[in-house]
Parts: sequence; structure tokens; C-alpha cells
Amino acid sequence: MRQAMANAFVPGAALLPAELEARVARRARLLGPAYRLFYERPLHIVRGEGAYLYDADGVRYLDAYNNVPGVGHCHPKVVEALTRQAALLNTHTRYLHDGVLDYAERLLATMPPALGHVMFTCSGSEANDLALRIAQAATGGAGVIITAYAYHGVTQAVAQLSPCLGQGVVVGPHVRVIPAPTSPGAGPDVGRRFALSVRAAAEDLLQHGIQPAALLVDTVFTSDGNYVDPAGFLAEAAAEIRAQGGLFIADEVQAGFGRTGGMWGFSRHGLVPDLVTMGKPMGNGHPIAGLAARPALVQAFADTVRYFNTFGGNPVSVAAANAVLDVLRDEGLMERAVEVGAHLKRGFVQLAASHPCLGEVRSAGLAFGVALREDDAWSAADRTSALVNGLRARRILVSASGIAQDVLKIRPPLCFSREDADALLEATAAVLAELADRPAGGA
Ligand code: PMP
Repeated sequence: MRQAMANAFVPGAALLPAELEARVARRARLLGPAYRLFYERPLHIVRGEGAYLYDADGVRYLDAYNNVPGVGHCHPKVVEALTRQAALLNTHTRYLHDGVLDYAERLLATMPPALGHVMFTCSGSEANDLALRIAQAATGGAGVIITAYAYHGVTQAVAQLSPCLGQGVVVGPHVRVIPAPTSPGAGPDVGRRFALSVRAAAEDLLQHGIQPAALLVDTVFTSDGNYVDPAGFLAEAAAEIRAQGGLFIADEVQAGFGRTGGMWGFSRHGLVPDLVTMGKPMGNGHPIAGLAARPALVQAFADTVRYFNTFGGNPVSVAAANAVLDVLRDEGLMERAVEVGAHLKRGFVQLAASHPCLGEVRSAGLAFGVALREDDAWSAADRTSALVNGLRARRILVSASGIAQDVLKIRPPLCFSREDADALLEATAAVLAELADRPAGGA
């Protein structure tokens, strides 16, 4: 397994134009070495619109990667809602505010009725951190079960639940790491096998005197490589963690707000989570995140702890989030994710039929993971990296994921069109053809 982050820029690995080199060096000097840039040749983006990004020279890139601007970069309705509220008032949740309550009501209406409260944070990390605290308060347990290459955020508590962050991440003694739910050709018993892994992990926690508090999963398993099929396979695991006294936390930071073609990724699985965390596309780039929970769990937490988050649920962020719901509905973006997603899937499946180096096409709506295969010339990870950078050279942005960094990660803004999908497919075919003529790792 590789340790560096997939698609990370490696300083010094490629010769860059002097101006770009200087900008990269300036950033390294100011921000230090923990940050990573994407691509062999980093991007300097200055403007966004819809599914497109523009660099400092005015060159247009098709964005097939960024899921945060879910309704499209700089959507005018979101910008308008943000600026209107920013000019009127921005405070916090210690005053009554109808905008916050109207949004909470609207958000809860998208959830199963059992989830009756919303709590606001500023980031997905904080949402998972809070969900964990609630789960631990409500169950009296501390144990958490996660998947092998999960990412759940950056706080001390959730970085310990994010092996994807790098080998320096210390997964805590209360954490059990289980394999991601499937691997190529896993077949219909994937749900059973995943649930058995959950059971074994819970039993191991108990044997070590640790009561399980939660199974925490990204419902599309983005960093693990996008495991989405068959729909429904998570239900058994959710039942299993409950049988062991723990809760099921659906991390919807990636899957939520229409990405899978429905509002929430967990809905595909016919289950009702105990806690749902969300973020990224919630404010279309404005930092708003949060969780929905069963009221009894929030009560157990609130019995002994109060909650306040200075920026979490401020009226300006909430106005942006509210506009996101409007645009999702008014522009039929979930229906579009289904339609364009199906078109893109057909295209990739067709491409895979004529390119043996392409493996499984894992998709739900516009959440895609396309697995690459190794052959005599290329390792799967090297080919994935070459493909990502080849697409970038053709002004199409995707990235890579998976524990072996061998999966193309594609999650465009939901305004992505059929024509955009065709452009991505054509460019992928062209880059694969280029790579076939090139020695592995060759420039
Ligand atoms: N959970 C998942 C599944 C994520 O993908 C991310 C962000 N990549 C987070 C949580 C953390 O969200 P944030 O970066 O907003 O803290």
C-alpha cells in the first residue's frame, strides 16, 4: 500500500514554469509542510461557475471532482441569499431566529420521522465529533467501528477514526478497523459479510472491556473506493451494531444532499440511522455542517452537557444552506444526478469493455469510483495517477481514492450535463490510448 496521499503533488518531481514554482514555494513557506496540493502540476484557480473552474490565465477546466459546490460553483441564488443575509444580520444560536428554525424544519422533513433534532456545526469533522460524543453519552460505551481506509475528519477524536490520513494517524485503542464492505466481485452476500465483520469487531471490543458506542460509515465509502452495491447491503450491519448495544452513524458528508440521486445515501439501504452527519455540499462551499439525531439520544447528551458552537448555525450560513435546498428542488438536480449518472455509468462500462485496464465502475447517482487494474506495463496505482494527471492536462479534473490508490474518484457538481459526461469519457479514452503507447511512469 502507498503511504502518500493519492494525487498529491510531489515538490521537485516535475519541472514547473518559474511562476508556478514560485507560487508553490511561497505557499510551502507560509502554510508549512502538512498541506498537500493536487496534481503533478498544481492548479491556480481564480474563478468558478457551474461545473467549470478557470485558472489565472483564463483556461477553463471541467470540474468532475468537487462535490462541495453541489449545486454548481458560485450559484447565483446561493450568492444572493448569502449576501442578502450578510447585509442584514449575522449572530448565533443564542438568540431566536426564524431562518434557522425554518431551515431545521425543512432539513428534518427530508429525513425519516424518527430523526427529530438538528444540531449545527461548521465542518463535517465537528459533526462527526459531536455525533460521537452523543453516541458515547447515550450508550455509555466508547468503542467505535470504522472501515479500513475511512476518512471522518480532523479533530483529535475523529482523526483517530481516519486511517486514510496517513501512517502517522494513531487509531485509538477504542477503535476497531474492519475491511471496507466489498471488493471486486463480492456478490450479493456482501451485506452479510460486512455485518459479520461488525459483529467480530464489537465482540473484540467487549472482550477488551470496551462497550461499543457506534459503527460510523460514509454511506458511499468514498475514501475506501466507493462501495455502493448492492443497494441495501448496509441494513444488516446497522442491525448488528444495535444488537451489540451500539448506534449506527451515517456519515453523509460525501453522500448527502443529492449526490447519489436521492437526498441521502443511507436511504438506498432501507435503514434509519441513529445519527446522520452532514457537511460539504450543505452550504455549497459556505462552512455549514451538522447532524440529525433521534431525540432520545440528544436528550441523553443534553442531560449532562450543553451545546453551543459560535459559528455553527449562524443565519448567514443557514441562508446559504436554505438556498441550496431551493436550487436542488427548482433545478431538479437529484433527477439530473440519476440521469447523467446513468449516462456516465453506461459510458464507463462501455469503455471498460474495450479497455481491460478499467475494472469495476462503482456508482450511485453522480458518486463514481472507477477501479483500475494492473497489467505487465503498469501498476494500478501508477495508471490511476497517470490517468488523473492526463485528464488534468486535458482540462478535466478528477482525483484518486481507495486504499491502494487505484480508483478514479469522480464527484462533479450536480449541474454536470450529459455533454460534460461525454467530454469526460472521450478524454478518458484518449488518455488511456496515450498511456498504452507510453512506458509506465514515463513522462
Ligand atoms: N466525513 C467524510 C466522509 C468526509 O469526506 C469528510 C471530508 N472530506 C469529513 C467527514 C470531514 O469534513 P470537513 O472537512 O468538513 O471537516
